[in-house]
Amino acid sequence: MEIIADPLKMQAQALRWRARGVKVVLVPTMGFFHQGHLSLMEYGRTLGDKLVVSLFVNPTQFGPTEDYQQYPRGFDRDADMAAKVGVEVLYTPGVEAMYPSGYQTYVEVEHLSKGLCGAFRPGHFKGVATVVLKLFNQVQPQAAVFGEKDYQQLAIIRQMAADLNVPVDIVGRPIVREPDGLAMSSRNTYLNPEERGAALCLYRAILAARELVATGENSRTKILKAVKQMITQTPHTAIDYLALVDPKTLQEVEAVQGEARLALAVRVGKTRLIDNTLLTESRLCCV
Ligand code: AMP
Repeated sequence: MEIIADPLKMQAQALRWRARGVKVVLVPTMGFFHQGHLSLMEYGRTLGDKLVVSLFVNPTQFGPTEDYQQYPRGFDRDADMAAKVGVEVLYTPGVEAMYPSGYQTYVEVEHLSKGLCGAFRPGHFKGVATVVLKLFNQVQPQAAVFGEKDYQQLAIIRQMAADLNVPVDIVGRPIVREPDGLAMSSRNTYLNPEERGAALCLYRAILAARELVATGENSRTKILKAVKQMITQTPHTAIDYLALVDPKTLQEVEAVQGEARLALAVRVGKTRLIDNTLLTESRLCCV
């Protein structure tokens, strides 16, 4: 596995591959890999000839009071894990190379960025969209793989690619969970044992919502009430938002009609966790 840190060197390599008709797949990450990241890499490997994984903790997507400094980092461990899944290039640009002094260009996906996490993390998705477009230009992939764990991010990247005619196929992959159901996240390392137990309430809430919908309940009020109850009865938790949204527009819906996405953001101690699930209207009652 080659490690490239210089954006110009990465882009030169990408252009050589492109000239030879080599199909490049990119998995953008902030590192501290877990099985969720590895599942994207394993899938990405099947989509093309060369798999590039970018590892960049992007400062422009963190707010001034957020965890940019503390964000877990472990380069040697990450490099070992990436090499084992057959990554061709681990691309690790530095902050100075990505945002040299005088940098001033940003991408904003206006409407999709407003609600859900966007309402609690001003500027976050502007930072995400910008860095992803820069990575696309540096790596020149034909396809890029993202996790549904960050569902709003995936929707925003899809919209950006469509709006700006970016010739990259955006591929979404399912959430990978711990055996007990907690969605894997690099930030789970912040949780102490008591908080780790409390964090399970997100998955329990998702199960409760799926169960309600499976038995024919479609109402947003009733579903969110059950979800809220699961969270508020758990110590050390504070809700940022609970939402039932249209899977494409991310606008709130009043009922699960066809498909809807349940999205949650909950702080457990000082750690902000997000999770989501697809809810599919049950037609059991109408046969
Ligand atoms: P991150 O390093 O947290 O920025 O995540 C890099 C990519 O991995 C993003 O596309 C995430 O959505 C994806 N990802 C993170 N956690 C998971 C998970 N538990 N399951 C699937 N994909 C994930």
